Amino acid sequence: MQKGVKFRIYPNKEQKNLINQTLGCCRLIYNKGLAMRNEAYKNGKKIGYSQTSTMLTELKKCEDFTFLKVVDSIALQQSLRDLDRGFVNFFQKRAAHPTFKSKHNRHQSYRPVNQCDNIRIVGKYIKLPKLGFVKIRQTMEVGKINNVTIEHTPTDKYFAVLNVEFEPQPMPNNGGMIGIDVGIKEFYSDSNGNVVPNPKYLEKSMRKLIREQRKLSRKQKGSNNRNRQRVKVALVHEKITNQRNDFLQKQSTMLIRENQTICIEELKVRNMMGNHKLAQHIGSASWSKFFDMLAYKSVWYGNNVVKVPTMYPSSQTCSCCGYKNPLVKNLAVRVWECPECHTIHNRDTNASINILTKGLQMQSA
Ligand SMILES: [Zn+2]
Repeated sequence: MQKGVKFRIYPNKEQKNLINQTLGCCRLIYNKGLAMRNEAYKNGKKIGYSQTSTMLTELKKCEDFTFLKVVDSIALQQSLRDLDRGFVNFFQKRAAHPTFKSKHNRHQSYRPVNQCDNIRIVGKYIKLPKLGFVKIRQTMEVGKINNVTIEHTPTDKYFAVLNVEFEPQPMPNNGGMIGIDVGIKEFYSDSNGNVVPNPKYLEKSMRKLIREQRKLSRKQKGSNNRNRQRVKVALVHEKITNQRNDFLQKQSTMLIRENQTICIEELKVRNMMGNHKLAQHIGSASWSKFFDMLAYKSVWYGNNVVKVPTMYPSSQTCSCCGYKNPLVKNLAVRVWECPECHTIHNRDTNASINILTKGLQMQSA
């Protein structure tokens, strides 16, 4: 099995320059590949990774592009593979259409691949292609390294994310079965009647983010003040991401420890992309991350995660008698009484019980 191990790296000035140069080159190749594929599409042709890869080979022969030879060639190829995967995800309706990358994108990263042991940890250093030995804080034991993602954050930190082989230790669970209904107000409600709220500290950071972003929008474009404010916004973002990941890790591990079967709702890409309101946007990004964590942890530890299709009217169906109440469509209805069997339902708990029931049906079918 595989997992990601992320840690901060401390490149020296020369190494930083080379990393930034590599990021720039990968971005360039990615964008050229994307332009090429868009153009082909317009002309009614469909091209894939191999055509873009040929483009890269040709480009490297050009006099104007000799700088491409300085950086890790595998990383350049990887950026075209990433583009290709972006298109596959798009065609399978799992993601939006790939877009051009800008220098100002929040996520700047490139991916060298481990070939002939050219990526390894030696004492308090990690050896990386072209960069040589880059300082890390402490030495660590990791499994076989497949590839690594080098990240440069807007707060000017550098990280390495190793993709390593590992053997998960068996983790027995309490054998429970649970349905999960994620929401905006509460993080989730489960079929046992529990409600897990969004942590207060996250809401606090979120308010701060909105404040700092408002300030940013008032700064003059291209000014030093604006750049300083941009870093401030990035720092709050970084804090939110860390706090959120920590919260999601704990919640997902807890569910995995207690339950053999976890039923969740399939998320719609449209729902995830369409939210322009910041709080909702971060909320929906959290759900997909949360479901990803549940998915890979269930593979490691042998739990079942069942995805119930969104078409299923989980909120409107009475979990006792199955009566469908269209009045509950209105999101404002938090508590309702079933006109058939007169059970009084909490909206979210009822939905999560239905998700559990439906998931168990699907599993036994
Ligand atoms: Zn009923």
